[in-house]
Amino acid sequence: MPLANSTGSVGLGQSSATTSHTSTAAKPIVIMGAGPAGLTAAWELIRAKQDVVVWEADPTYVGGISRTVQAEGFRFDIGGHRFFSKSKEVNEVWRQILPDDFIDCPRLSRIYYKGKFFNYPMEAMDSFLKLGPRETYNILVSYARARLKPIKPEVTFTQWVTNRFGERLFNIFFKSYTEKVWGISCDEISADWAAQRIKGLSLREAIISALRGKKAPPTAKTLIRNFFYPRLGPGQMWETAAEKIMNAGGKVLLDRRVQTIHWDETGVTHVTGTNQQGEFFQQEGSYFLSSIPLKELMLSLDPPPPKEVLAAARALRYRDFLTVCLVVNRAEVFPDTWIYIHDPSVKVGRVQNYKNWSAAMVPDPKLTSLGMEYFCFEGDGMWISTDFDLAQLAIREAIQIGLIKEGEVKDAFVVRMPKAYPIYDRDYQKHVQTIRAWVSQFANLQPVGRNGMHHYNNQDHSMMTAMLAARNVMGGQYDCWKVNTEAEYHEDGDAKNLDTGDAKD
Ligand SMILES: Cc1cc2nc3c(=O)[nH]c(=O)nc-3n(C[C@H](O)[C@H](O)[C@H](O)COP(=O)(O)OP(=O)(O)OC[C@H]3O[C@@H](n4cnc5c(N)ncnc54)[C@H](O)[C@@H]3O)c2cc1C
Repeated sequence: MPLANSTGSVGLGQSSATTSHTSTAAKPIVIMGAGPAGLTAAWELIRAKQDVVVWEADPTYVGGISRTVQAEGFRFDIGGHRFFSKSKEVNEVWRQILPDDFIDCPRLSRIYYKGKFFNYPMEAMDSFLKLGPRETYNILVSYARARLKPIKPEVTFTQWVTNRFGERLFNIFFKSYTEKVWGISCDEISADWAAQRIKGLSLREAIISALRGKKAPPTAKTLIRNFFYPRLGPGQMWETAAEKIMNAGGKVLLDRRVQTIHWDETGVTHVTGTNQQGEFFQQEGSYFLSSIPLKELMLSLDPPPPKEVLAAARALRYRDFLTVCLVVNRAEVFPDTWIYIHDPSVKVGRVQNYKNWSAAMVPDPKLTSLGMEYFCFEGDGMWISTDFDLAQLAIREAIQIGLIKEGEVKDAFVVRMPKAYPIYDRDYQKHVQTIRAWVSQFANLQPVGRNGMHHYNNQDHSMMTAMLAARNVMGGQYDCWKVNTEAEYHEDGDAKNLDTGDAKD
């Protein structure tokens, strides 16, 4: 079976913008990373006629975790990427970048658990029929118990969810999937993560949403039924953004890994790094925005930060992610956009069906491509498995779940994405605080984005931190750390909270 590892060239290829080895008289604003945050910052600045240079480590793709990988004409996401935001400004930026190719995508997602498929968002009748009257009774009793006698203090993910859903539902619908995602026990995961991701959702609300049916919009954002999606996948948004930034005079340079960030008493002065051939590059700047992982930012500073700051940076952890894309020789495999796999008997955590997001993700309508998603740690057994072994595992598990039959897979591709998730363990906040306090001394350096701020942000909040940081460069006074932390910080709409994500992404 031919296997490809993140093959195919997509996006911008080598930027036509020239490489800058040294500065010119007027120093540009340097942006590290060309994911949604870095490119949004560049977008905002270039529209205000500022001079920007973006350094992106990847030799092929922009878009970071929100890229679209291409192989043999198939397109796939790093996890399915829904475009949904309560922020008018974020929606406007998406529309400005991609005015014509943004499709409305209906969501159909289910949970696979103990051999059955449950609708998700939960539909009361469906869940109760599949769980049976005894389990339903147990769930309601355990919910009532949790409401009457909540666990206090509420420190861990287990406690947070149990208090809102009861122990029984926690075990069925949260525990195994969450532990697959994070690779650690729910007792070690901070309640913050649940509060940020599933805020606004409760059993009561889930039932109300289910009873309302598809006509009324759900009230919690975890239950969003429709979302926008670029016709050619999320990467199309960011490839187009990069093209437009370059057309407006900005530079987006691929294959430029920032390795050292140089500073002195005046602030950050320049960055240096190499491409994959080992060639050395240097870029001076007036201002620096960093969307590279916060840990990496701290460890790249020269001179290095004090010992306690370095220790805090080293303590930040990430969860990594890989997708095995299976090409199935069948036009229709299942109707869902994605399926959550809660069943602990398989390792796969979620299965995407890309053509149900957009038909253009598959080159031949007679075929289907499935994304078998595995959560892992860089360097662990899963991560270092050969692509062939990973494909065999994915095929075996897809057959075991009943999605495909023996002999139906034509081809497979493996994509590994390091640092997909910043881990919210019990101490992460303390470490981020230590780093934040020290970094605030720099008047010309701002961390932005998801890993850039070690904040579990979706694209919209990653973008929003970047928009505000870009405005700070031009004299604004925003606190980017408040985005997705404090209610409605710089967000339009009537949301009572800022979460736009899914408890399960
Ligand atoms: C499985 C999964 C599903 C998701 N689903 C959704 C969804 O449905 N909707 C949604 O809105 N969001 C979703 N997200 C979140 C979304 O992917 C992120 O919010 C977004 O990509 C973060 O953007 P960013 O620019 O901050 O960071 P990134 O996307 O991580 O981009 C950072 C960039 O910096 C580059 N870089 C790193 N180090 C260096 C260096 N030293 N020098 C130069 N460049 C460097 C990287 O190569 C990368 O391109 C999902 C995430 C995951 C993991």
